[in-house]
Amino acid sequence: MLIVKKFGGTSVADKERIFNVARRCIEDYKKGNDVVVVLSAMGKFTDVLVSQAKDINPNPPKREMDMLYTIGEQQSVALMAMAMDSLGVPAVSLNAFQVKMYTTSAYGNARLTGIDTERIKNELESRKIVLITGFQGVDKMDNYTTLGRGGSDTTAVALAAALHADECEIYTDVDGVFTADPRHVPGARKLDEITYDEMLDLASLGAGVLHNRSVEMAKRYNVQLVVRSSLNFSEGTVVKEAVKMEGTLISGVASDKNTARIAVIGLEDQPGVAFKLFDHLARHNINVDIILQSVGRGGTKDISFTVAKDDLAEAVATIERHRETSLRCEKVDTEENVAKVSIVGAGMMSNPGVAAKMFEALYDAGINIKMISTSEIRVTVLIDAQHTEKAVNAVHNKFF
Ligand code: ASP
Ligand code: MG
Repeated sequence: MLIVKKFGGTSVADKERIFNVARRCIEDYKKGNDVVVVLSAMGKFTDVLVSQAKDINPNPPKREMDMLYTIGEQQSVALMAMAMDSLGVPAVSLNAFQVKMYTTSAYGNARLTGIDTERIKNELESRKIVLITGFQGVDKMDNYTTLGRGGSDTTAVALAAALHADECEIYTDVDGVFTADPRHVPGARKLDEITYDEMLDLASLGAGVLHNRSVEMAKRYNVQLVVRSSLNFSEGTVVKEAVKMEGTLISGVASDKNTARIAVIGLEDQPGVAFKLFDHLARHNINVDIILQSVGRGGTKDISFTVAKDDLAEAVATIERHRETSLRCEKVDTEENVAKVSIVGAGMMSNPGVAAKMFEALYDAGINIKMISTSEIRVTVLIDAQHTEKAVNAVHNKFF
């Protein structure tokens, strides 16, 4: 069997944990499997790099940021190879450049475009454990890129797809995917299984266990994932196409404080306005989330939407730049102390009243809703950030 195993930062945070991971990988290797291991940077090292950068330059060039980021993952794989060597098992560490893990040039948010598997296959053939840096890539011009924070999951899934792996295991510091963040919601419970679509929504909405692109990719290439703890041997959560219904309407509640609201007030009420607004933002690689357009009155309308906090300044600057020309409007308002709270579940497709039940829970908790957006399997509300934990608990208690 060919197994791809990915370990997050907490799983390789110190010497003891590095050896713990080394032993788990060696166990699979000794059973005769080919083992490819993707690692994240140790502990919070990536955050340390961010503060180092910001201390030197509050607005570091994105290319240089990626150049800096890559050392975190490189440290992990090299140390892991040394740990395995000391345990008498041959291993080789490879970074994205050595593998040739190609991406677009969107620094900080690059997309994988192709992986050269030859080197990896050769190393596996010579019976080495192959350790690969997560999160990073190289573009056509040989610049380092990164896939976005948390991107090592995506590296692992992409490798599993490219190598036609038999298993792809994502190791983390919790037992799997939970109905809500167990650190904040005492009643949260672990799910045995979850569909790609539900996981994709939960991941995008702040569940924090998997990088959303990794789930997208797993669905596209039909890579079954197991999310489990590196600290114990419990079963984990299987992420796959279809799962047996467990009789609950929803699979989880997620929240995300990394969000900000922008309101563009007094736009002309004419065809093409929304197109221009969001086209400008898309050209700057700014992802837009909940969108709300008011009813037009007196020839004008308002459009409000949410973006990630990090993108707020650039989004506003982009709009301001076009205000005099293609985007005439009265003013641009922003609000940063907001959070998204979402419920996700395939069960809501066939059960009316799920959204109402969520709104009731928020009403009972005295929490005001600022924006709402829905899909077939999801309801998201935007609320004051200070009420996030209270809202998640209230909603979770209502459904579970
Ligand atoms: N080390 C990177 C981060 O902290 C990538 C990852 O952990 O997946 O975002
Ligand atoms: Mg992660």
